[in-house]
Amino acid sequence: MMRAAPADRPPVLAILSALAEEQAGLVEQLQDAQCISHAGRTFWQGRLGGLAVVLALSRIGKVAAATTSVALIERFGASRIVFTGVAGGVGPGVQVGDVVVGTGYVQHDLDASPLFPRYQIPLTGQTVLNADAVLADALVAACAAGLQGLRHAGRLPVVHQGLIASGDRFVNGQEETRRIVQSLRQHGHEPLAVEMEGAAVAQVCCDYGLPFAAVRTISDRADDSAHVDFPAFVRDVASVYAQRIVTALLQVSQPRL
Ligand code: SAH
Repeated sequence: MMRAAPADRPPVLAILSALAEEQAGLVEQLQDAQCISHAGRTFWQGRLGGLAVVLALSRIGKVAAATTSVALIERFGASRIVFTGVAGGVGPGVQVGDVVVGTGYVQHDLDASPLFPRYQIPLTGQTVLNADAVLADALVAACAAGLQGLRHAGRLPVVHQGLIASGDRFVNGQEETRRIVQSLRQHGHEPLAVEMEGAAVAQVCCDYGLPFAAVRTISDRADDSAHVDFPAFVRDVASVYAQRIVTALLQVSQPRL
């Protein structure tokens, strides 16, 4: 995705969180906070570390996340969107407690073949949408700084970079994961993680020519036990990661935002 020069908009960084637990700490730190209800959602405007921001919960699934993204752009003047959430690790070596910074996004459940090639977004000619390189690099730097000293199950979190596959399914079965990954591979795509929103937000940002990047903490391996430890992981691990990564993003990487 090209980095847009939104000359007509003052910079407003949208921080889109998948889960309330990830957002809570950010709302607490927000200065000049204003809470606005719109489209059945709650948006928080204000400043974080001196930067104009708008915070929102994406809601779950591609359509919900797209609606939230459009509102962020049209109503709240977002000039770039950063997403934090959790995901199932499907790439080799992508373990629970690691993080994945998405460099590209594909919809694993999009299939308008034979009218359009498998996975291609109809009428756009595009299949994998690339993250904004500057924002993605800033997220990688923020992960390195923010996660320092943290361990999960005795292991330092590894920061992976690569393809994230989104779809309207919570993937929790070995066989289902194998099918999704194998089919993507047959079409030349190597996913590291599956989740339910990223590619939709990427598509909205692509339509508006705005920068987008996302970071996902790996909560499960998209296998038969994916749902088991999910709530506890979100509460105890992912919320801490998200808070630290965003804080570091605003401190370490602010000149790049
Ligand atoms: N219990 C949660 C629902 C979570 S749905 C609640 O009530 O809020 C799962 C969320 O985690 C989605 O945002 C999705 O993007 C992500 N996710 C984590 N693991 C996933 C997996 N294995 N497959 C698909 N999405 C996953």
